[in-house]
Amino acid sequence: FKAKRPLRIALAIAGSMAVEGPLVRWVADHRKHHKFSDAEGDPHSPWRFGETVPALMKGLWWAHIAWMFDEEQTPQDKYAPDLIKDKAIRTISRQFLLWAGLSLTLPALIGGLVTMSWWGAFTGFFWGSLVRVALLHHVTWSINSICHAVGKRPFKSRDRSGNVWWLAVLSCGESWHNLHHADPTSARHGVERGQVDSSARLIRWFEMLGWAYDVRWPSRSRIDSRRNPDGKGSRRKAEAADAA
Ligand SMILES: [Zn+2]
Ligand SMILES: [Zn+2]
Repeated sequence: FKAKRPLRIALAIAGSMAVEGPLVRWVADHRKHHKFSDAEGDPHSPWRFGETVPALMKGLWWAHIAWMFDEEQTPQDKYAPDLIKDKAIRTISRQFLLWAGLSLTLPALIGGLVTMSWWGAFTGFFWGSLVRVALLHHVTWSINSICHAVGKRPFKSRDRSGNVWWLAVLSCGESWHNLHHADPTSARHGVERGQVDSSARLIRWFEMLGWAYDVRWPSRSRIDSRRNPDGKGSRRKAEAADAA
C-alpha cells in the first residue's frame, strides 16, 4: 500500500521504536532478502551453510541473530534509493538512536509517573522496555530463521519460505511467510480462511480512514494462480492457469 505523508512518518517512527536498526538499513536488508531469498546474497538465510542437520543448526543461528553482526552491509544507495530521497524518512532513519532511546525510556517514565515511585519506573522499564523488545526481536528473527526452515509451502516461491501457523498471532500475520514470498506486494499474508493477519486488518483500517491508498488486496484468482502444483487443493486450477 501507499501511505499518506503523516501515516508514513508515524509508521517510520513506530518502526524505529522497535529498536531493529535504522529504517533505511532495515529496508535495504529486507529488499536484498527478497531478491536473493535462500540463495547466495540473501543476508539471512538459514540454508547458508548447507542442508545437513549440523549445517542447518548453524544456519538457524545465523538467520536468527548472527547475520546482524556480519561485516558485509547491504548497500543502501542500491537497495533503498527511494527512501534516501525522501527527506523525512532519511531524517528519521538518521535519528535512530533517539527513537530507540525514547522507546526504552518512555515505559520507565510512564511507570514512574503513574505510581510516583522508583519501583514503578523499574517495573515499567523491565516489562515495557526489556521484555517487550526481547519478545519483539525474537518474533521478528523467527520469521528469518523458523519461517525459512519449516512450515507448509502451498504457494510457488523460489525459496524455502513456509507458513508457520503458531507464530501468526505474535507476528501479526507475518509468519504466513510462504504467501509473502510468493506474492510480496500483497497487503494480506494470511489469505486462507481462518489465517489470522492483524497487519492486514490494520492496513484495512488505514484505508477506510483515507490514510492508505493503492492497497493491493489479493483477489481469489491471483491467489489461486500462485498455488504450488504439488500442494493439495487447487492443483487443477493451477495447471489450468499455467496452460493459459
Ligand atoms: Zn518481505
Ligand atoms: Zn523471508
